[in-house]
Amino acid sequence: MNILIKNGTIITSSDIFDGDIYIKGEKIDGLGESINLPADEVIDAKGKYVIPGGIDVHTHFQLPVKGTVSADGFESGSRAAACGGVTTFIDFAHQVPGESPMKALDERIEEAKNDVYIDYGLHLGISDFNKNVLKEIPIYIERGVPSFKLYMIYAKEGWMSNDATIYAMLEAVREQGGLVIIHAENPYIIDMFTDRMIDEGKLDVKWHPVSRPNFVEAEAIKRALYLTEVTGSRIYIVHTSTAEGVALVAEAKGRGVMALAETCPQYLVLNDDTYLRDDGYLFLTSPPLRKVKDQLALWKGLSMGAIQVVSTDTCTFTREQKEPGKDDFTKLPGGIAGIETLIPMVHSEGVLKGRISLNQWVDLISTNPAKLFGLHPAKGTLAPGSDADIVIFDPEKKVKLLPENLHYVVDYSPYDRMTVTGWPYITMSRGKTIYRDGEFMGEKGRGKFIPRYYAD
Ligand code: MN
Ligand code: MN
Repeated sequence: MNILIKNGTIITSSDIFDGDIYIKGEKIDGLGESINLPADEVIDAKGKYVIPGGIDVHTHFQLPVKGTVSADGFESGSRAAACGGVTTFIDFAHQVPGESPMKALDERIEEAKNDVYIDYGLHLGISDFNKNVLKEIPIYIERGVPSFKLYMIYAKEGWMSNDATIYAMLEAVREQGGLVIIHAENPYIIDMFTDRMIDEGKLDVKWHPVSRPNFVEAEAIKRALYLTEVTGSRIYIVHTSTAEGVALVAEAKGRGVMALAETCPQYLVLNDDTYLRDDGYLFLTSPPLRKVKDQLALWKGLSMGAIQVVSTDTCTFTREQKEPGKDDFTKLPGGIAGIETLIPMVHSEGVLKGRISLNQWVDLISTNPAKLFGLHPAKGTLAPGSDADIVIFDPEKKVKLLPENLHYVVDYSPYDRMTVTGWPYITMSRGKTIYRDGEFMGEKGRGKFIPRYYAD
């Protein structure tokens, strides 16, 4: 099947021009100012943007947490993704302590296989580091899983890495050519503050950010960056949420440390006032929502290139699942939805508010994630030979972000008081239209596990 997209404004991370794209089967065959070839379908994209499909490198679909499992799984999560213009996501396979990460990887691929509508990759979550894990690193890289997630917190879940593990993993991937990605917060100080909150009866969710002040993230980022510097390795800091964190990453880059960082829409557009809502407990996530000054620093970090990626950390729980923690934030499973609104949100709040350019928008939600995680140039760009993962984006369509306008299992949205300008008109995954003008038409199980490789 050949498809011709006519008269769109084609935007990549480096170019903008009005033109056409020709798709043959699952791949982009060519693009240019005017293409006139026979096609089975011609799509008129006049007045619309044509961009590479979004890539969300941080999701937690059907993740077991605190005795429950995150509500949006591979099926509904990848459906919501497609309806918002995301065509690839990277989730996690978490090693079970005492077992080989290989087992987790095989099981996770099996879990996703029949449910995904779009392509996906996996990071490997290392929770029980030992000599065998170290030995197996080249095998994971060979299998297309070259990014290793370490948590500096979550001791109770059994996921926490100590400084020695972080050091050893940084050293190992420097040799083998992978990437350490890290959740940076200081667990001991969080525990101390949390105990204080419990002692003082401060259990409403509004105390959650008080139990994890900015310096708790900054200290951990600083330590992670220092270990990266002494090992000569590179690191990717997930969900950077504080002004202090951005400053540390920017400063480290300035002295030549290979520091990479992402932030998420919740830190860019929401602040800790959200926890004052009657239903504020629904929006507990970690790191917590911060202050307006942090939002401003994060936007600046994006525009200056200190932060390279906007991902979502999507991890949803129904009201029922959040209920046990309604009056006690220490019992809340953490996480919120975000994958469906990622691309419209960064467009509406970033591009339309003059904080980033159209090219930067595409870079942050597609090209950079593809490059940093070994998906480029098959994904993350519009070029001959690339996968036809394409979004035709209507820059004027307004959508109020009410749960009924979104496609998650959860029936509430952290962004329900916001309206975005700009929404996908068509989402195409490897040449197949899976969303068009409000209608989802994906084919379950068509998404593939994509092995990811770094160029050298
Ligand atoms: Mn995290
Ligand atoms: Mn996460």
